[in-house]
Parts: sequence; structure tokens; C-alpha cells
Amino acid sequence: MKTDFDILELGQSDLRRIAEPVTDIQSTVFQQKIDALIEFVKQRGGMGIAATQVGINQRFFIMSSHPNDRYPYAPDMPATSVINPEIVWHSDAMEKDWEGCLSVPGLRALVPRYQQIKVRYLLRNGELVETEYHDFMARLFQHELDHLDGKVFVDRVESSLDMMTESSWRSMLTQQSGDNDK
Ligand code: ZN
Repeated sequence: MKTDFDILELGQSDLRRIAEPVTDIQSTVFQQKIDALIEFVKQRGGMGIAATQVGINQRFFIMSSHPNDRYPYAPDMPATSVINPEIVWHSDAMEKDWEGCLSVPGLRALVPRYQQIKVRYLLRNGELVETEYHDFMARLFQHELDHLDGKVFVDRVESSLDMMTESSWRSMLTQQSGDNDK
């Protein structure tokens, strides 16, 4: 199985395409794309990847979550395929928190996102999921859904002062961990 995808990076026009709804969910070809992207996320230890980031112009992404050194408060969620996703409701409240992206290497930024969302999507077996996410998972979902609309997290950053290089961000976290009791 091909899992050595080339990731499209900021500046490559295909990253800005608006993806088409998935209509071949039960097909072997589509199921293999899901397998390949799940394997890719596992190998890279990432939290998610959208089809458009590897040049697949279809509306689906993989979402996977586990606590780690970058996001110690992330919940546990096995790699899940999220197909034809929609946000059907969102809170008025927005929150800023740090994001990064495989398509924007070396950069971290504070990104405002809805704190709570209600969503609808299909699983790979065609089952409809209607659920609610808040905080970290809501952020991850919004980040990945943006990719399907050709948007990248830096588009939503309010100020260049909310951006950091990966190495500055890591040293900030190291400094903060001394007074963080969570
Ligand atoms: Zn991303």
C-alpha cells in the first residue's frame, strides 16, 4: 500500500482547491485511500490529515487524537475517517489556541476557532454520525474541514504576532511546563 504521500505545502495551488463530495464510499479504490491515509497518520504520529493535503480532491479527512508532549490535554480517539463532513451548529464563543500543519512546516500560530460545534459526517462503512465536539476536538475538526475548502490555518490568524517558529514554540512550552500543573 502506498503511504509515502507527498504533502502539498503552502504556496502550491492544489492545496487551495475546493474538494468534491465523496460519492464512491463503498468502492475498493476509495476504501484503499482511507487505509493509506490512516497508515500515513499513524506513521507520522499526526493528529489528522485531509485528502486535499495529498492531492486527493475529495471531501474526507482522517482524525486521530492522543495526549502527547505537544498537546497533553488531547483526548484519545483512534484514527477515524470523516467523510463529507459538515458543521451544522457552532457556538458563538471562539477560542484561540496553537495549531500547526504538515502543509506549513516549521510554523505554529494561535488560531481562533469555535469552542463547540455540532457536526455530521459519514464513516467509511457509510454510517451517519451526528455528534458534538468541543475544545481540542472541535479545533481539529475545523482545521481539517478548512483544508477541504482550500483554507489553511494561517488564513485565520489575526495577527502576525500570533505566529511562532516551531523551535520558538517548543522553547516557550518548555518554559511554561514548570508552572503548569495540568
Ligand atoms: Zn493542516
